[in-house]
Amino acid sequence: MWPAGTGLRSGHGQGAALDVTIELGAASDTGRVRPCNEDAYLARHQMAAVADGMGGHAAGDVASSCAIEALASIVSARSLRAEEVQMALQSANDAILDEVAVSPDKAGMGTTISGVTLIEYGGSPHWLVFNIGDSRVYRIADGAAVQLTVDHSEVAELVALGKITPAQAVVHPLRNVITRSLGTDPAPSADLWIFPASPSGDTFLACSDGLTNELDDATIAGIVTGARGPRDAASLLVTRAVDAGGRDNVTAVVLRTAPAADDAALTNTIPRPTRDEG
Ligand code: MN
Repeated sequence: MWPAGTGLRSGHGQGAALDVTIELGAASDTGRVRPCNEDAYLARHQMAAVADGMGGHAAGDVASSCAIEALASIVSARSLRAEEVQMALQSANDAILDEVAVSPDKAGMGTTISGVTLIEYGGSPHWLVFNIGDSRVYRIADGAAVQLTVDHSEVAELVALGKITPAQAVVHPLRNVITRSLGTDPAPSADLWIFPASPSGDTFLACSDGLTNELDDATIAGIVTGARGPRDAASLLVTRAVDAGGRDNVTAVVLRTAPAADDAALTNTIPRPTRDEG
Protein backbone atom coordinates (compact mmCIF):
# COMPACT_ATOMS: atom_id res chain seq x y z
CA MET A 1 0.00 0.00 0.00
CA TRP A 2 1.41 3.32 -1.05
CA PRO A 3 1.27 5.90 1.75
CA ALA A 4 -0.95 8.68 0.41
CA GLY A 5 -0.98 11.27 3.17
CA THR A 6 -2.13 14.03 0.84
CA GLY A 7 -5.91 13.72 1.05
CA LEU A 8 -6.10 12.82 -2.64
CA ARG A 9 -9.59 12.49 -3.99
CA SER A 10 -10.58 9.47 -6.00
CA GLY A 11 -12.06 9.78 -9.44
CA HIS A 12 -13.87 7.16 -11.46
CA GLY A 13 -13.53 5.80 -14.98
CA GLN A 14 -11.56 7.24 -17.86
CA GLY A 15 -10.27 10.77 -17.59
CA ALA A 16 -11.51 13.47 -19.90
CA ALA A 17 -9.67 14.21 -23.13
CA LEU A 18 -6.85 16.68 -22.52
CA ASP A 19 -7.82 20.11 -23.72
CA VAL A 20 -4.48 21.78 -23.10
CA THR A 21 -1.71 22.29 -25.64
CA ILE A 22 1.45 20.78 -24.15
CA GLU A 23 4.88 21.13 -25.76
CA LEU A 24 7.77 18.99 -24.57
CA GLY A 25 11.50 18.88 -25.23
CA ALA A 26 14.15 16.58 -23.77
CA ALA A 27 17.90 16.03 -23.91
CA SER A 28 20.32 13.75 -22.09
CA ASP A 29 24.09 13.33 -22.21
CA THR A 30 26.56 10.95 -20.57
CA GLY A 31 28.80 13.92 -19.75
CA ARG A 32 32.60 13.99 -19.82
CA VAL A 33 33.48 11.70 -16.92
CA ARG A 34 31.02 8.82 -16.44
CA PRO A 35 31.38 5.72 -18.64
CA CYS A 36 27.64 5.36 -19.30
CA ASN A 37 24.38 7.23 -18.97
CA GLU A 38 22.27 5.93 -16.07
CA ASP A 39 19.73 8.76 -16.37
CA ALA A 40 16.41 8.10 -18.10
CA TYR A 41 13.54 10.42 -18.92
CA LEU A 42 9.96 10.67 -20.11
CA ALA A 43 8.63 13.50 -22.28
CA ARG A 44 5.28 12.34 -23.51
CA HIS A 45 1.66 13.50 -23.45
CA GLN A 46 1.09 15.34 -20.16
CA MET A 47 4.26 14.31 -18.29
CA ALA A 48 7.89 15.34 -17.91
CA ALA A 49 9.98 13.07 -15.68
CA VAL A 50 13.62 12.26 -14.96
CA ALA A 51 15.15 9.23 -13.22
CA ASP A 52 18.81 9.15 -12.14
CA GLY A 53 19.89 5.57 -11.60
CA MET A 54 22.60 4.38 -9.24
CA GLY A 55 24.38 1.07 -8.96
CA GLY A 56 26.68 1.12 -11.97
CA HIS A 57 26.29 0.00 -15.54
CA ALA A 58 23.61 -2.69 -16.13
CA ALA A 59 22.10 -1.85 -12.74
CA GLY A 60 21.57 1.90 -12.41
CA ASP A 61 20.24 2.12 -15.93
CA VAL A 62 17.90 -0.83 -15.24
CA ALA A 63 16.53 0.96 -12.19
CA SER A 64 16.02 4.30 -13.93
CA SER A 65 14.41 2.55 -16.93
CA CYS A 66 12.01 0.67 -14.63
CA ALA A 67 10.86 3.96 -13.14
CA ILE A 68 10.37 5.63 -16.52
CA GLU A 69 8.62 2.60 -18.06
CA ALA A 70 6.12 2.51 -15.20
CA LEU A 71 5.26 6.17 -15.78
CA ALA A 72 5.19 5.73 -19.57
CA SER A 73 2.58 3.00 -19.13
CA ILE A 74 0.06 5.42 -17.60
CA VAL A 75 0.43 8.54 -19.76
CA SER A 76 -2.03 9.06 -22.60
CA ALA A 77 -4.06 11.72 -24.33
CA ARG A 78 -6.57 11.53 -21.49
CA SER A 79 -6.22 13.18 -18.12
CA LEU A 80 -4.51 11.33 -15.29
CA ARG A 81 -5.38 11.03 -11.65
CA ALA A 82 -2.86 11.38 -8.82
CA GLU A 83 -3.54 7.83 -7.65
CA GLU A 84 -2.39 6.48 -11.02
CA VAL A 85 0.96 8.22 -10.59
CA GLN A 86 1.34 6.89 -7.05
CA MET A 87 0.51 3.36 -8.20
CA ALA A 88 3.01 3.62 -11.08
CA LEU A 89 5.76 4.67 -8.67
CA GLN A 90 4.92 1.76 -6.39
CA SER A 91 4.96 -0.70 -9.30
CA ALA A 92 8.33 0.70 -10.44
CA ASN A 93 9.67 0.13 -6.95
CA ASP A 94 8.32 -3.45 -6.92
CA ALA A 95 9.89 -4.09 -10.34
CA ILE A 96 13.32 -2.90 -9.15
CA LEU A 97 13.14 -5.01 -5.97
CA ASP A 98 12.03 -8.05 -8.04
CA GLU A 99 14.95 -7.56 -10.41
CA VAL A 100 17.40 -7.48 -7.48
CA ALA A 101 15.81 -10.65 -6.09
CA VAL A 102 16.55 -12.58 -9.30
CA SER A 103 19.89 -10.85 -10.07
CA PRO A 104 21.79 -10.42 -6.78
CA ASP A 105 24.65 -8.80 -8.74
CA LYS A 106 22.35 -5.79 -9.08
CA ALA A 107 21.95 -5.43 -5.29
CA GLY A 108 22.11 -1.81 -4.27
CA MET A 109 20.68 -0.44 -7.48
CA GLY A 110 18.09 2.26 -7.18
CA THR A 111 16.92 5.44 -8.79
CA THR A 112 15.62 8.89 -8.13
CA ILE A 113 12.38 9.90 -9.82
CA SER A 114 11.09 13.45 -10.24
CA GLY A 115 8.48 14.82 -12.53
CA VAL A 116 5.43 16.90 -13.25
CA THR A 117 2.20 15.86 -14.88
CA LEU A 118 -1.16 17.37 -15.65
CA ILE A 119 -3.91 15.66 -13.66
CA GLU A 120 -7.60 16.13 -13.14
CA TYR A 121 -8.25 17.14 -9.56
CA GLY A 122 -11.60 18.26 -8.23
CA GLY A 123 -12.86 18.44 -11.83
CA SER A 124 -10.26 20.88 -13.14
CA PRO A 125 -6.71 20.66 -14.55
CA HIS A 126 -4.00 20.70 -11.92
CA TRP A 127 -0.30 19.99 -11.89
CA LEU A 128 1.05 17.11 -9.82
CA VAL A 129 4.74 17.35 -8.97
CA PHE A 130 6.31 14.22 -7.51
CA ASN A 131 9.74 13.47 -6.12
CA ILE A 132 11.88 10.78 -4.56
CA GLY A 133 15.61 11.60 -4.34
CA ASP A 134 17.61 14.58 -5.58
CA SER A 135 16.48 15.07 -9.15
CA ARG A 136 14.42 18.25 -9.35
CA VAL A 137 11.39 19.97 -10.81
CA TYR A 138 11.51 23.73 -11.35
CA ARG A 139 8.80 26.14 -12.39
CA ILE A 140 10.12 28.80 -14.74
CA ALA A 141 8.16 32.06 -14.61
CA ASP A 142 8.93 35.77 -14.87
CA GLY A 143 12.55 35.04 -15.73
CA ALA A 144 13.19 33.01 -12.56
CA ALA A 145 13.53 29.30 -11.84
CA VAL A 146 11.86 28.21 -8.61
CA GLN A 147 12.68 24.73 -7.31
CA LEU A 148 9.37 23.01 -6.46
CA THR A 149 10.79 19.75 -5.16
CA VAL A 150 12.74 19.27 -1.94
CA ASP A 151 15.94 17.24 -2.34
CA HIS A 152 16.11 14.04 -0.32
CA SER A 153 19.82 14.40 0.34
CA GLU A 154 22.22 14.67 3.25
CA VAL A 155 23.16 18.22 2.33
CA ALA A 156 19.53 19.37 1.96
CA GLU A 157 18.89 18.10 5.49
CA LEU A 158 21.99 19.90 6.79
CA VAL A 159 20.79 23.13 5.12
CA ALA A 160 17.30 22.66 6.59
CA LEU A 161 18.86 22.23 10.04
CA GLY A 162 20.89 25.42 9.55
CA LYS A 163 24.18 23.53 9.88
CA ILE A 164 25.48 24.55 6.45
CA THR A 165 24.50 27.25 3.96
CA PRO A 166 23.09 26.53 0.47
CA ALA A 167 26.44 27.75 -0.93
CA GLN A 168 28.34 25.26 1.23
CA ALA A 169 25.98 22.48 0.11
CA VAL A 170 27.05 22.92 -3.51
CA VAL A 171 30.65 21.87 -2.72
CA HIS A 172 29.98 19.64 0.32
CA PRO A 173 31.56 16.13 0.26
CA LEU A 174 28.17 14.55 1.05
CA ARG A 175 26.37 16.36 -1.80
CA ASN A 176 25.83 13.12 -3.74
CA VAL A 177 24.38 11.15 -0.82
CA ILE A 178 20.62 10.77 -1.16
CA THR A 179 18.35 9.80 1.69
CA ARG A 180 15.40 8.41 -0.27
CA SER A 181 15.24 6.46 -3.55
CA LEU A 182 13.18 3.98 -5.50
CA GLY A 183 14.39 0.38 -5.16
CA THR A 184 15.75 0.47 -1.64
CA ASP A 185 12.62 0.27 0.49
CA PRO A 186 9.41 -1.81 0.12
CA ALA A 187 7.22 1.32 0.16
CA PRO A 188 9.17 4.55 -0.26
CA SER A 189 7.08 7.65 0.11
CA ALA A 190 7.07 10.20 -2.69
CA ASP A 191 6.67 13.88 -1.96
CA LEU A 192 3.65 15.19 -3.86
CA TRP A 193 2.48 18.73 -4.59
CA ILE A 194 -0.78 19.60 -6.35
CA PHE A 195 -1.70 23.07 -7.61
CA PRO A 196 -4.01 24.51 -10.29
CA ALA A 197 -2.80 24.92 -13.86
CA SER A 198 -2.32 28.59 -14.70
CA PRO A 199 -4.71 29.93 -17.39
CA SER A 200 -1.80 31.96 -18.77
CA GLY A 201 0.32 28.83 -19.30
CA ASP A 202 3.08 27.15 -17.29
CA THR A 203 6.69 26.14 -17.95
CA PHE A 204 8.45 23.40 -15.97
CA LEU A 205 11.87 21.79 -16.01
CA ALA A 206 12.57 18.27 -14.71
CA CYS A 207 16.28 17.53 -14.45
CA SER A 208 18.91 15.32 -12.91
CA ASP A 209 21.55 16.59 -10.47
CA GLY A 210 24.11 16.49 -13.29
CA LEU A 211 22.42 19.67 -14.55
CA THR A 212 21.98 21.49 -11.24
CA ASN A 213 25.51 20.68 -10.05
CA GLU A 214 26.87 22.47 -13.12
CA LEU A 215 24.43 25.39 -13.62
CA ASP A 216 22.94 27.66 -10.98
CA ASP A 217 19.23 28.52 -10.90
CA ALA A 218 19.70 31.96 -12.51
CA THR A 219 21.61 30.45 -15.43
CA ILE A 220 18.93 27.77 -15.86
CA ALA A 221 16.18 30.40 -15.86
CA GLY A 222 18.03 32.51 -18.42
CA ILE A 223 18.52 29.60 -20.79
CA VAL A 224 14.90 28.44 -20.64
CA THR A 225 13.50 31.97 -20.92
CA GLY A 226 15.72 32.82 -23.88
CA ALA A 227 15.11 29.57 -25.78
CA ARG A 228 12.77 29.35 -28.77
CA GLY A 229 10.79 26.52 -27.14
CA PRO A 230 11.06 23.41 -24.95
CA ARG A 231 13.20 21.41 -27.39
CA ASP A 232 15.66 24.23 -27.80
CA ALA A 233 15.67 24.84 -24.03
CA ALA A 234 16.37 21.21 -23.11
CA SER A 235 19.18 20.81 -25.58
CA LEU A 236 20.80 24.15 -24.63
CA LEU A 237 20.64 23.30 -20.91
CA VAL A 238 22.36 19.95 -21.41
CA THR A 239 24.99 21.39 -23.75
CA ARG A 240 25.81 24.16 -21.28
CA ALA A 241 26.09 21.70 -18.35
CA VAL A 242 28.43 19.43 -20.32
CA ASP A 243 30.50 22.46 -21.36
CA ALA A 244 30.67 23.53 -17.70
CA GLY A 245 32.29 20.24 -16.72
CA GLY A 246 29.84 17.42 -17.38
CA ARG A 247 30.99 15.59 -14.24
CA ASP A 248 27.81 13.49 -14.16
CA ASN A 249 25.11 12.35 -16.58
CA VAL A 250 22.96 15.36 -17.51
CA THR A 251 19.25 15.22 -18.35
CA ALA A 252 16.67 17.96 -18.86
CA VAL A 253 13.00 17.76 -19.84
CA VAL A 254 11.09 21.00 -20.44
CA LEU A 255 7.28 21.11 -20.52
CA ARG A 256 5.32 24.18 -21.57
CA THR A 257 1.59 24.79 -21.88
CA ALA A 258 0.04 27.43 -24.09
CA PRO A 259 -2.27 30.01 -22.55
CA ALA A 260 -5.86 28.78 -22.41
CA ALA A 261 -8.02 30.21 -25.18
CA ASP A 262 -10.39 32.75 -23.67
CA ASP A 263 -12.85 32.34 -26.52
CA ALA A 264 -15.36 29.78 -25.21
CA ALA A 265 -15.87 28.41 -28.72
CA LEU A 266 -12.24 27.36 -28.83
CA THR A 267 -12.35 25.37 -25.61
CA ASN A 268 -14.71 22.79 -27.07
CA THR A 269 -12.50 21.70 -29.93
CA ILE A 270 -11.10 18.19 -30.29
CA PRO A 271 -8.04 17.29 -28.17
CA ARG A 272 -4.99 19.03 -29.50
CA PRO A 273 -2.00 16.94 -30.49
CA THR A 274 0.91 16.80 -28.07
CA ARG A 275 4.53 16.46 -28.94
CA ASP A 276 6.03 13.08 -28.22
CA GLU A 277 9.72 12.63 -27.56
CA GLY A 278 11.65 10.18 -25.50
MN1 MN B 1 23.26 12.19 -11.18
